[in-house]
Amino acid sequence: MEQETDDSPRGSGDSGEEPRNGATKLRVIVIGGSVAGLACAHALLKTGVCRVMVIEKARALSGNNTGAGLGIDAAACEAMEDWGLRDELHLNSKPLDYEENRAVDPERKVSVKLARDENFRHWAVHWGQLHRILRESLPPGIVHFNHEAISFEDSEDGKTMLVKVVEGGSNNNLHAVKEVWGDLIVAADGSVSRTRQFYVPGDKRRYSGYCAWRGVYDYSDNPEIRESIQKVYGDIGHCLYFDIARGSHAVLYELPGQRLNWLWYVNQPEPHLEGDSVTIPQPGKEEVAKLHKEADRTWGPELAELIRVTPDPFINAIYDKNPLKQLVFSRVVLVGDAAHPTTPHGLRSTNMAIMDAHVLGKAVGKWGSRNLDSALTEYQMKRLSATSQQALFSRHLGRLKQGMLFEPQGSFPWSTCDEGMVEGLLQRNMSYYQWRCYVD
Ligand SMILES: Cc1cc2nc3c(=O)[nH]c(=O)nc-3n(C[C@H](O)[C@H](O)[C@H](O)COP(=O)(O)OP(=O)(O)OC[C@H]3O[C@@H](n4cnc5c(N)ncnc54)[C@H](O)[C@@H]3O)c2cc1C
Repeated sequence: MEQETDDSPRGSGDSGEEPRNGATKLRVIVIGGSVAGLACAHALLKTGVCRVMVIEKARALSGNNTGAGLGIDAAACEAMEDWGLRDELHLNSKPLDYEENRAVDPERKVSVKLARDENFRHWAVHWGQLHRILRESLPPGIVHFNHEAISFEDSEDGKTMLVKVVEGGSNNNLHAVKEVWGDLIVAADGSVSRTRQFYVPGDKRRYSGYCAWRGVYDYSDNPEIRESIQKVYGDIGHCLYFDIARGSHAVLYELPGQRLNWLWYVNQPEPHLEGDSVTIPQPGKEEVAKLHKEADRTWGPELAELIRVTPDPFINAIYDKNPLKQLVFSRVVLVGDAAHPTTPHGLRSTNMAIMDAHVLGKAVGKWGSRNLDSALTEYQMKRLSATSQQALFSRHLGRLKQGMLFEPQGSFPWSTCDEGMVEGLLQRNMSYYQWRCYVD
């Protein structure tokens, strides 16, 4: 795993030569090989001044059935285009040209359109596909699965870091600890980031007050389900729908591969979770039966039917954290969910992760390997305010749509409120929305 050997990982566009100004390449260690980590690997390799190693504790991550859907915004698409991934992304996604928010009448189960954005310009993709695209397009030897970073420490001059890594996970005593030196550590270790805990001890996650039931339904053997959905969600396949009911809301859109992706947010006390996970992968039969019954009571028959036929729905408890005051700690930089764990309502987690990578790569490319501190300062300046405001907007949107801002809770009469109020439901009201901070 030592980076400075002859077979050290070489990046895309990396001839193996050192930068022409005589500077040596930066040794970058990325902790975490999910979306943020792989995106950073692309962005940093593209600079031509970095050698990159990604350490991921899972044995493998992508697979068609890992995860569910997400939406990529236009700015993140452009970042992926910069890494040569535009065509692959478009081949594996469905356009979300519009966003529409509707109120569901609890008695008649019909919906009333509240607010629509005709210029939404997102792409719907399955998490497993996005991860595969990012992973398979990296040069071989960059990503080390089944390796866990267990600790790191500064050198005396504070310019290099020593990362200790164990193959097979920290519980596996059979394997020796390996030591890797880096000039820059990118902490892409997710919402329960150990790196963040080290620099911001005592920083707790905040339970939102609700959980999301989620499911992906493959309608290839049952096209009637898609037809019935299309009767009431006319732009399915092009539109991200939010249906708001009393004290809860649902999300619906189509994924490539004849799949419908849905979520339903339900206010409830914090569930008991094992370890750090926020997912309850296999809820019990009784809970699923209750889900079906409640869906009949809350939603129109088409969405209720989709929820009923979806196999293996799962539950995500929804958390975020308060924004940090800094993202850079000496030669350690936080990115993705490690930097700004957020609720999903602004479609931010993956988009912010990709934009973090894009900005980090551009800053390192601009300042070069000799001016890393300036690059990191620029990264922090460009990302701290944007990500803080977006995470707080997502939190607000969730509370608004769950009826938590009203008394009694959930009681807001959406279908009778004015244009200004319903405009506030749209994603485009978020600060730094679709912001391109680098235009080449
Ligand atoms: C398997 C999986 C499925 C997901 N599915 C969806 C989905 O369907 N929809 C959606 O919107 N979001 C999904 N997410 C979350 C989504 O990836 C993130 O919210 C967002 O993209 C930001 O990604 P991230 O890389 O910052 O964090 P994460 O995706 O949480 O990744 C953090 C990574 O760091 C690794 N890691 C943590 N500690 C260490 C360590 N010490 N050493 C080495 N590796 C470490 C973890 O194993 C993990 O792979 C999923 C994440 C995972 C891991």
